[in-house]
Amino acid sequence: MASEAVEVGAGRDFIRDIIDAEIAAGRNTEVVTRFPPEPNGYLHIGHAKAIWLNFGVAQEYGGRCHLRFDDTNPTKEEQEYIDAIKRDVHWLGFDWGRRLHYASDYFDQLYDWAEHLIRAGKAYVDDLSAEEMRVMRGSLTEPGRNSPYRDRTVAENLDLFRRMRGGEFPDGARVLRAKIDMAAGNMNLRDPVLYRILHAAHPRTGATWCIYPTYDFAHGQSDAIEGVTHSLCSLEFEDHRPLYDWLIDNLPVPSRPRQYEFARLNLGYTVLSKRVLTQLVRGGHVTGWDDPRMPTLAGLRRRGVPAAAIRDFVRRAGIARAHSVVDIAMFEHSIRELLNKVAPRRMAVLRPLKLRIDNYPGGPGEELVAVNNPEDPAAGMRRIRFGRELYIERDDFLEFPPKGFYRLAPGREVRLRYAYFVTCHEVVKNAAGEVVELICTYDPETRGGNAPDGRKVRATLHWVAAAYAISAEIRLYNPLFTRAEPASGGDIITELNPMSLETLIESRVEAALNTAIPGEPVQFERQGYFCLDPLSGPDRLIFNRTVGLRDSWTRMRATGDQSIRNI
Ligand code: ATP
Ligand code: MG
Repeated sequence: MASEAVEVGAGRDFIRDIIDAEIAAGRNTEVVTRFPPEPNGYLHIGHAKAIWLNFGVAQEYGGRCHLRFDDTNPTKEEQEYIDAIKRDVHWLGFDWGRRLHYASDYFDQLYDWAEHLIRAGKAYVDDLSAEEMRVMRGSLTEPGRNSPYRDRTVAENLDLFRRMRGGEFPDGARVLRAKIDMAAGNMNLRDPVLYRILHAAHPRTGATWCIYPTYDFAHGQSDAIEGVTHSLCSLEFEDHRPLYDWLIDNLPVPSRPRQYEFARLNLGYTVLSKRVLTQLVRGGHVTGWDDPRMPTLAGLRRRGVPAAAIRDFVRRAGIARAHSVVDIAMFEHSIRELLNKVAPRRMAVLRPLKLRIDNYPGGPGEELVAVNNPEDPAAGMRRIRFGRELYIERDDFLEFPPKGFYRLAPGREVRLRYAYFVTCHEVVKNAAGEVVELICTYDPETRGGNAPDGRKVRATLHWVAAAYAISAEIRLYNPLFTRAEPASGGDIITELNPMSLETLIESRVEAALNTAIPGEPVQFERQGYFCLDPLSGPDRLIFNRTVGLRDSWTRMRATGDQSIRNI
């Protein structure tokens, strides 16, 4: 959990170049960053990039990184989100130590600074409605117009602002605005709102306040209070920087943070907007914030994605200023590369087809030895049960195999992994004409998987012994959305992929999997990486597919297949 476990040393990017240049110029001896989530939803993989950057930079330069909740909107914020965010930052491998802060800790200070602006003639109470304000704000091509309340006296403004605080007025009746320039080219400088009336209980300050600072008013000042040196944020705040600078220039703040903007992480077939993710959760389109199809850290964790793979991915994706959409194949590559090294191999038959070995003795069968992880000799061996009745994967048999299909077919010999060569002699069908069982023979000389006479087979199949395998439910996940850039227009709900979850309820897995633990990855041979779902019970094993073994995305693109089914 602590930061020592985390590999930083990110390589180069423009943020690190800036810090290096500052150090070289003797300008900054200290690096203080912060990750500033608003607790109105769960963290997603885009946040992981910001977390990794802020904590990583602080760690590399011997500085510190704060976790600060920008909790200025009590109508959207909840304690559940605060708890989830803390859990997820820790899980990702970062630690804020004693530096846990809340913008709400600074409400008194921020209020005093608001009065400071009023006294300096740089803020005023406005009675316009939200709609009137919007209209008078102008547009990118039209300057705004001054509010008729703009020239209130300091005394009148102070009186009204205090009465706002005192709870005399209903929500929306008045706001406090900065008095900057209604003709400014940058819309953010057209007398932005600093405080609004919200008669809402706050998760941390309760009923103490009925006016709350806007994000814009709280954010930069909170950084200044905490001594943040580098305010790293995503590009949408670039246009806000002149406002933040104006506020810092006009307030007696204890320090002067500098803001640097970087491009957000965008991932193909994925939505990284809390507003949309909230809509998915509230609308019941997913089972919750930790649904394994969600790009949230909680969802990815439940799906079996290790934190280290997420860190590796955001490092590779890099920090830049240009907008881009990262291919999901790149994320899957980071996951596979890591899991390949650590995940023990097991055998699991997702869609079982019975196979009987006619010349194999009945009774308890025998024990064979299987390698736990060919990438890791220290992982050792395990014993697996073999018997007369087995299950193999339905896809591994074809009655009429086309050219190029080397797996099992009538009259053909294949290897059963760690066991024997078997040959199929007979196909049993049900009344509907479906294949329900294969009758085979085995060659006792091929125990362990090699023929003494040197003959070869072209396929090796995984299997489980019918008498010993345990039943499991297996959940295969596909992208939540049907388009690479969802909701580039239109209603995002119509772009949900109806095939995003495929549930297999008749799977059979080898007995060793009854000791599986949620969060510990396992490779099902020839299938992919899986992980026990936390909602599994002793009588109901549920495995989530983390990622398949191969990069089906690249293949899909290469063949021009736009369908995203059955990946
Ligand atoms: P919304 O999704 O509603 O726009 P948000 O994701 O910006 O909200 P915040 O809680 O404000 O939510 O995010 C905290 C920090 O994470 C911000 O500094 C923001 O810049 C950063 N961040 C959010 N999304 C991404 C992303 N996709 N890539 C990189 N950084 C991000
Ligand atoms: Mg935001």
